[in-house]
Order: sequence, then C-alpha cells, then structure tokens
Amino acid sequence: MAEPRRTWKQVLSRFLLLDLIKGLLVTFKYQAPKHCYTEQYPLVRPKVAERFRGAPRLNLDPETGESLCIACNLCAIACPEDLITVVEAVREYVDHEGKTKKKRVLVDYTYDTSRCMFCGHCQDVCPTYAIELTQEFELAIYRRKDFVWSWEMLEKGIEQPIYTR
Ligand code: SF4
Ligand code: SF4
Repeated sequence: MAEPRRTWKQVLSRFLLLDLIKGLLVTFKYQAPKHCYTEQYPLVRPKVAERFRGAPRLNLDPETGESLCIACNLCAIACPEDLITVVEAVREYVDHEGKTKKKRVLVDYTYDTSRCMFCGHCQDVCPTYAIELTQEFELAIYRRKDFVWSWEMLEKGIEQPIYTR
C-alpha cells in the first residue's frame, strides 16, 4: 500500500524536530521540585506505618535511668530464631525494711539483628516493656559482626545518619 502523502506542515514539523522539542519541554517543565512525586529518600525520611517493626531498643526507666529489663529471659525463650541472649545474675540487696533479699539482675544482653524477622514476639512477651521494636529501618552495615547488638547499643539505639547533597 502506498504511503499517504504528507502535508507541508508535517514535513516542516519533522524537519524542525518539533515533536522532540515538545516532548523535551514537557520533561523540563516537570524538573521543578514542586512537581516531584517520588520519595526523596535519603534526604527526606519516609514515614513508616505505625505498626512497622524495626530496630530493637532496650528501654530505660525514665525516672531512674536504669534498664527496665528484669532479666526474666522471656524474650529469649519466645524468639523463634533464638537470637537473643540474656545473661543474668542473682544479687543480694537490702530492702526499705532493712531485710536482705535476692533479685535477678541483667548482666548482659545481645541481639543478633541479622537473624531477626521482626515478628515482635519478644516485645509482646516482655512484662516490663523493656524490649521494643522501633520505627528505625536503617539497619544496613558493612561488617557482618556488627549485626550483633550489644546491651549498650540496644539502649543507645543507632544514630540516624544525616544526608546532605
Ligand atoms: S522480633 Fe521475632 S525474630 Fe526478632 S528477636 Fe524478636 S522474637 Fe526474635
Ligand atoms: S527484655 Fe523483657 S522479656 Fe526480655 S529479659 Fe528483659 S524483661 Fe524479660
């Protein structure tokens, strides 16, 4: 079948690359930041869902500043990945009536974030709300051994990096 004849307008448009220029104009028009539709992470941190479970944290008592963890070991037992290690000791103390009593205290706590599936069982069973999965999602690190968080790291949490252009 013979190709239909082009009008002089079509020929001129093709010669001057008008369609290409029109397309580029649309592209450049949407370069202004107000037309930005994609998430600007990491410059702008996305809001995660309220129920998101991320980096673990061992909470402190806001009044005393001491760990809320009573070393009951329930989180370690509940964890299907067996990645929490709670080391406890029994210490003697004198109560307000002057009686000597014994209590279990936390000696060490580690949490292997590389094996965690963030199921939340550990925080669900914790009787003192000590262990909590926070909304922090930046868990990437360079060295494999850094996946294991110490007690101190769990209390301090990870520092949120500040990204700049
Ligand atoms: S979130 Fe689940 S897998 Fe991770 S430590 Fe807690 S119980 Fe274990
Ligand atoms: S974090 Fe909670 S569940 Fe785990 S040992 Fe401490 S008090 Fe018990």
